[in-house]
Amino acid sequence: MELKIVSLYPRDMNIYGDRGNLLSLVRRARAHGITPEVVEVNVGDPLPDDVDIIIGGGGQDSGQERVARDLLGRGAELRGLAEEGLPMLLICGLYQLFGHRFVTGSSSEIPGIGVFDIETRAGSERMIGNVVVDSEEFGQIIGYENHSGNTVLGDESVPLGKVLQGSGNNTVDGTEGARTRNAIGSYLHGSLLPKNPAISDFLIRVAMERKYGAFTPREIDDTVALRARASAKKRPR
Ligand code: GLN
Repeated sequence: MELKIVSLYPRDMNIYGDRGNLLSLVRRARAHGITPEVVEVNVGDPLPDDVDIIIGGGGQDSGQERVARDLLGRGAELRGLAEEGLPMLLICGLYQLFGHRFVTGSSSEIPGIGVFDIETRAGSERMIGNVVVDSEEFGQIIGYENHSGNTVLGDESVPLGKVLQGSGNNTVDGTEGARTRNAIGSYLHGSLLPKNPAISDFLIRVAMERKYGAFTPREIDDTVALRARASAKKRPR
């Protein structure tokens, strides 16, 4: 059993340990008896047509500007894959660009591809620290945010969860992240999958069911993840 994982724009969009999500997903897949193959897709690279999972990270505004045009060129394909139910995980800067637009602090607008029904506008305040989110599907999600973009959800996307600690999408409505079918967008960086094996298992299960029609998970020892979750919860910043 094999899974092809695309790491989207690792050269330009990879900050605050976002690579941790990829490493964690690869380790988790192996622990379930799956052979993962990682394909890095940077600006100009082809997207393999047999991709099973797409994950991408955050970046500074300059990184977002570097990938924006290339991403727009892939918009129809990525929206199609999301509509078909491909599992995806997009963090922070790419989460914003998988929405309709990101308006930067200097008021320039970076257009996005609209996989998520969200809009983001840079605010004056940076939202930094450990975050605790309550989610119906994954239980309590623990992560770390660092962004100035304020994201507002439209009617077509549901939030990933409700913020119990930290800011999440913005400082006002108490939501964090967005879901469109099996695509997950979130502000929580590279410790998201290491601290939340339930989300890795979701991405892997959906990918396996799409590819092989079934998935039998193995029992995996989550002691280290549980320890990291407990320690992050004790330190809000
Ligand atoms: N530049 C964006 C913001 O600050 C994204 C930052 C990030 O990916 N951490 O909102």
